[in-house]
Amino acid sequence: MFAFTFFNAITVNIMYIDTHIHADGMSEDKLRYMVSNGITRAITCAFYPVEPKYQQTFVDLFRRMIDFDVPQAKKVGLALHVAVGIHPRSIPKTSYEMVIESMKSLTEHNLVVAFGETGLQTGSIKELEVLRTQIEVAKEHDFPIIVHTPGDNKIEITEKTLPLINKTRINPELVIIDHVNAESISIVDKSGYNIGLSVQYNMLTPERASELVIQYSGDNDLVLNSDNGFRKCDIASVAKTIDSLKALGVEKSLLERLSHKNAEKIFNL
Ligand SMILES: [Zn+2]
Repeated sequence: MFAFTFFNAITVNIMYIDTHIHADGMSEDKLRYMVSNGITRAITCAFYPVEPKYQQTFVDLFRRMIDFDVPQAKKVGLALHVAVGIHPRSIPKTSYEMVIESMKSLTEHNLVVAFGETGLQTGSIKELEVLRTQIEVAKEHDFPIIVHTPGDNKIEITEKTLPLINKTRINPELVIIDHVNAESISIVDKSGYNIGLSVQYNMLTPERASELVIQYSGDNDLVLNSDNGFRKCDIASVAKTIDSLKALGVEKSLLERLSHKNAEKIFNL
């Protein structure tokens, strides 16, 4: 039988928003476990696990997210919002104009709240072009955009990503630089964009994320996420981080901003 040990969340009465998951890689049990730990809202981000041969793949991926993943999550009490975009590891082999057109039209869809996840993985010329295009579209549509930074070469790639975004002159409030870690947080903090902390195995522990929050909770709007999806994940990591902050004596207003208010503001929820 498939079962999870229940994580005893002491702040389960707070409404948490997990700002970056991949619901298409999660079983119903995993989604239910999120909800049982107070994580009742989440943003599911587009990602395709093999390089798509055809740009049409995205049309169906976005349909799947909206028409299948959202109702599946709703059944267990999780309100899902959708982010659509081209992940740097999912750039279609041929062209991608159709994907961009689909993203533009989905800005009108009530379930779609952001573009993402986008970003750079290796920093190739193609990745730079695809990211720039998506940032330009986000700027045109005044639409939030989630920008991934990779596990490898985090600093080098973040230092390529930030100037590219700066050049577009997009409103910084629309941008989340995601998977920020202890090494990259100071340069992202200086950039003025929102900071996404992914609390997950091989990324940040709830305790380490809490230390970063305490150090960097000034002007930047920090958001928390788990990047839950296809791999083995610490499913309730957002709730655990808030609990860790609470145990450190962080004031309620900051807990509320981190647990849901910053996300509500950025994604206009
Ligand atoms: Zn992700």
